[in-house]
Amino acid sequence: MQAYQYLAGGEWLDTDEHLESDDPYLGAPWALIPRCGAAEVDRAVRAAHLAFTEGPWSRLTATGRGRLLRRMGEVLAANAERLAAVETRDNGKRTGDILPGLTGGLRDSFDYYAGLADKVEGTVPPTGRPTILNYTTPVPYGVIAAITAWNSPLLIAIQKLAPALAAGNTVVLKPSEHASASTLELAEVLADADLPAGVINVVTGLGAECGQPLVEHPLVRKVSFTGSAEGGRAVAMAAAANLTPCTMELGGKSPQIVFDDIDLDAAVFGVAGGIFPPSGQSCIAGSRALVHESIHDAFVERLVEVVGEARPGAPTDPGAHYAPIANRPHYDRILGHIAAAVADGARCVAGGGPAAHPDGGDGWFVEPTVFIDVTQDMAIAREEVFGPVLAVLRFTDEDEAVALANDSLYGLAAGIWSADLARGIRLAERIEAGTVYVNNYFDACPQSPVGGFKASGYGRENGIAGFEEFVQTRSVWVDVGSRPEHPFPPA
Ligand code: NDP
Repeated sequence: MQAYQYLAGGEWLDTDEHLESDDPYLGAPWALIPRCGAAEVDRAVRAAHLAFTEGPWSRLTATGRGRLLRRMGEVLAANAERLAAVETRDNGKRTGDILPGLTGGLRDSFDYYAGLADKVEGTVPPTGRPTILNYTTPVPYGVIAAITAWNSPLLIAIQKLAPALAAGNTVVLKPSEHASASTLELAEVLADADLPAGVINVVTGLGAECGQPLVEHPLVRKVSFTGSAEGGRAVAMAAAANLTPCTMELGGKSPQIVFDDIDLDAAVFGVAGGIFPPSGQSCIAGSRALVHESIHDAFVERLVEVVGEARPGAPTDPGAHYAPIANRPHYDRILGHIAAAVADGARCVAGGGPAAHPDGGDGWFVEPTVFIDVTQDMAIAREEVFGPVLAVLRFTDEDEAVALANDSLYGLAAGIWSADLARGIRLAERIEAGTVYVNNYFDACPQSPVGGFKASGYGRENGIAGFEEFVQTRSVWVDVGSRPEHPFPPA
């Protein structure tokens, strides 16, 4: 088995205990990762703090940081195949879904924030005081704790690293125990960009043993978290003890609203494409199809045909329509959601259980699954499955579609499928979601901010808003002319 070490202050270090990481296609362990606890976390955070306060990183200009970030993008692209192969092995995500991002959008992310690093300016507020110069400057926080989910570890890590470093912070990354290998290799690769020691550190281990001491560490000045709403709540509560601010990128139960004026195939392809190719393991997966009643039956009939054509395959196979579920506990959880939907009275018209392994092996495949006769009170209409399970509900008019879409704890993303773009824009204004797609789904780029409404989180990643998550404002008052008057003037 491949054995990994953790990274603190530029040193690769080992722990006494390790955790096994599984290959979801084989259904068997392939790597050992360090089981870090409070002591290892402390070492990494202190190294990050030292790099922030002393040493070459602390003396770099914003332009110099930008130059380093650009180099990081180049190094990322040069090592894209190696990184994609490791992530595929560790979480079963299709290589074809990872590789283009590493040479495209994620490299762009480094370039975007490299360019922004020396362009975010302070202000000179008009205070109206003749002898006072008051100005503000954006100031990095210091050590950022970046905690990430297992579905897209590289993407999530880079979305945090690029703006955090551009702003001048240092970072301690904590990937999921289920998929840590690609983050460790990313840190190794990025060292080739001549990043000073301690600027990026990676600790691995369990959420409670490794993530929690990281969040609670007094030298951590900001937490950037991506994961479930449940995990986010635990992290926000732990961070509150030190009043450490957080950015939260959490889960969703995103609606895709299908109107009766849209070409049927376009709607079916769009809705199915908005959930099934990554086996639903995307935070913005459009897992609720709200379909106009006049086309409901035709839509479902065509959807079942299309979903029935989906074939499982090895995640390295470019022809695989979908790949395995990333880890065994999650596979069991998805099957539990399916069983609960059946018990609640929803009707399964496609899939509904484990899919046969393409090679007859032990990996964890779940069939693309469609439920109809779903009502709004059922768990399958309300809870995030984070798997290939689509709940189909009906609506009669725009108002009902909006009401159903918004009747959710979550507000991460939404899709609107309609030939009437005015309607698309009108509805986009009424839907409680951080991202709304009209006649497309899943697109993202470094320039455009993403994030959630309601229980899908707060704060933003990408764009200028993503940079602003990693700076605080200092206001400086300089008296340029007068001297203080006696504080207690005689009467
Ligand atoms: P979890 O909330 O279970 O875990 C997320 C991360 O938090 C993991 O690294 C986990 O470690 C760690 N963690 C867990 N408990 C604690 C704790 N008490 N203190 C500190 N860290 C802790 O989420 P999943 O990994 O299961 O990811 C799936 C979820 O992520 C889905 O809900 C999905 O929607 C969401 N997600 C959101 C995205 C967004 O941008 N909005 C993008 C991608 C996913 P460990 O795994 O070792 O327990």
